[in-house]
Amino acid sequence: MTRRVGLIGWPVDHSQSPAMQTAAFAACGLDWQYTLLPTLPDQLRATLDQVRAGELAGANVTIPHKSAVMPMLDEIDPAAAAIGAVNTIVVRDGRLIGCNTDAIGFARALSEIGVDVNGKQCAVLGAGGAARAVVHTLKELGGRVTIYARDVSRARTLIGGDEQTRALRDVDRVACDTVLIVNATSVGMAPQSDGSPWPDGAVFPAGALAFDLIYNPRRTRWMGQAERSGAQAVNGLAMLIYQGAAAFEMWTGQKAPLEVMFEAARGALQAAAAKGAS
Ligand code: NAP
Repeated sequence: MTRRVGLIGWPVDHSQSPAMQTAAFAACGLDWQYTLLPTLPDQLRATLDQVRAGELAGANVTIPHKSAVMPMLDEIDPAAAAIGAVNTIVVRDGRLIGCNTDAIGFARALSEIGVDVNGKQCAVLGAGGAARAVVHTLKELGGRVTIYARDVSRARTLIGGDEQTRALRDVDRVACDTVLIVNATSVGMAPQSDGSPWPDGAVFPAGALAFDLIYNPRRTRWMGQAERSGAQAVNGLAMLIYQGAAAFEMWTGQKAPLEVMFEAARGALQAAAAKGAS
């Protein structure tokens, strides 16, 4: 019998996850389907009931439900609890367990680039769900983190802990010994690709890596600003694949076919870009 997993969120129609997961299931010979589950806040419990009833073998969770879903689940794994956000639901013996694979995906992408943040200064722009996963990971890796957000008091409440929190408009004063700057805001994401969280003309610290979580467009305006300032820049595609691969492995118990997932996501992004340009 075909097993189903899906993406719970609103909106969900621009997601690359269906292409990536469908290709992975096919490559592994699994009779699984990945479907979109557009869900408004007042429909969240009803969608979870479908999972509980066995209609779905698991799910991804995206905006705006990553935190709201937590009290509705049976168990939250320790990392997701520390982050305060769930992006993957796994079903074990009928129990719904909340996990966070954004943190896993970010850590793997960072380690592949070879950046060592232990004892080093890092800056994170934004204070949403993805920012929380990034801050958690950087702290686990021993990094010293400063968060820049447009609403500082909200960032403090959301993130807590002992990280420094500053206004996003002060990002041009980022410490000169910063080795990593992560854009975890949605500024610059398609279709508003002309946006950037970085003031024009502000210099990036020498030798810093600019890591944009955005993967559509492939090269954001912020990445261009970083490169012109002499910094190295990467987009969020690898993180997207690795967070999806971690969810695939949790659901199916099989090793994720990474190359297939990269190829499918790149193809879906190219198709989306062509559609946007037409
Ligand atoms: P979110 O929870 O909605 O957070 C968005 C963040 O962006 C918030 O801090 C928000 O500030 C800030 N923001 C939005 N508009 C802004 C503006 N005009 N000026 C300044 N700040 C602004 O979303 P999320 O889930 O954290 O996602 C954030 C980004 O990461 C998105 O682009 C998403 O696609 C990307 N992402 C990528 C991956 C990946 O695998 N590569 C995974 C997860 C997310 P306020 O708090 O003040 O509203």
